[in-house]
Amino acid sequence: MNRVLVPLQLDGAAPPLGARTQRIGGETMGTTWQMCWVTSDACSEEALRAAIQKELDLVVAQMSTWLPGSDLDRFNRAPAGTGQALPGAFADVLDAAVWMANASGGAFNPAAGALVNLWGFGPSPRYTDPGFQVPDNEAVDASLANVDWRGLRWDASRSQARQPGGLLLDLSAIAKGHAVDRVSQCLSRMGFHHTLVEVGGELRGQGFALSGQPWWVDLESPPFLHGVRALPTTRVALHGLSVATSGDYRRAITHDGAHWPHTIDPRDGRPVTHGLASVSVLHESCMWADAWSTALTVLGRDAGQALAVEHGIAALFVQRERDGSLSESLTPAMEALAA
Ligand code: ADP
Ligand code: MG
Repeated sequence: MNRVLVPLQLDGAAPPLGARTQRIGGETMGTTWQMCWVTSDACSEEALRAAIQKELDLVVAQMSTWLPGSDLDRFNRAPAGTGQALPGAFADVLDAAVWMANASGGAFNPAAGALVNLWGFGPSPRYTDPGFQVPDNEAVDASLANVDWRGLRWDASRSQARQPGGLLLDLSAIAKGHAVDRVSQCLSRMGFHHTLVEVGGELRGQGFALSGQPWWVDLESPPFLHGVRALPTTRVALHGLSVATSGDYRRAITHDGAHWPHTIDPRDGRPVTHGLASVSVLHESCMWADAWSTALTVLGRDAGQALAVEHGIAALFVQRERDGSLSESLTPAMEALAA
């Protein structure tokens, strides 16, 4: 059985007859990117690639935790008590991240860098390093002292954040989505209206694929145990729509039989372990889809569902039950898209 999700409104002209689908891709942010577009014009692939790369490089230069000298890295190293003016894209993303932190009571937290590093999901040490030690309670408590995002005193009108001292920003849970939005917008400005953009599994589709079909995308489904009933495939028409998925099966520490995903609950300083296998969020903006999928992952199914419903967010939760089976729940906004 399949489920099909279609936006409530389809608009804009389909690509002309005789158009072709083209595809290019590359690497960025420790992952891959891809772009498909439909066109009837001969165009320079190199010019497109350069324009896309420029957008992706801007996100890395401003928001990477991995690139020494990025604007974010400089913020993280700034002296305690200093106000820092942030460049445009960084400011926009931090503004959304602070909103998400407030709305989720800190389940999503852009200031969780100390915890991310402690659990080996930052640049170093890596959880994959030989001899990597899972942190003890004392270390967790020490990092928890440095993750209060309110200490940033974020001032959106002046794009200014304060480094309270020892606070490490980490925008990895939202920056990829923002990168997808930037690339999509850049392509529209260049006159490409039928595009599908993907960075590290977060996607945005605009316009139509060939023959007036929308861009159909199947949501990634979590692996399940042999003998357990498979879930329906959910197929989404990405027409002016983005989708982001966070899952416990993607990158995780496995230690003494425990399995810890790379999403951390900054409220208790530990990786999330409440059995949510994945959360997919549909939103016009990929940045918001990305932020929400991480926030809902941390909150877990019940609290996550309640917050998503309150904000009219279209989300699909897949819960891992005790017997290994998977069960799904959809918010009303998601149900409304089910054709
Ligand atoms: P994915 O790469 O699976 O899409 P996310 O969008 O959830 O994952 O981003 C995960 C990254 O976000 C982590 O590697 C870490 O850098 C950061 N992070 C982990 N937990 C949180 C959190 N609670 N709030 C904000 N960022 C987080
Ligand atoms: Mg995310």
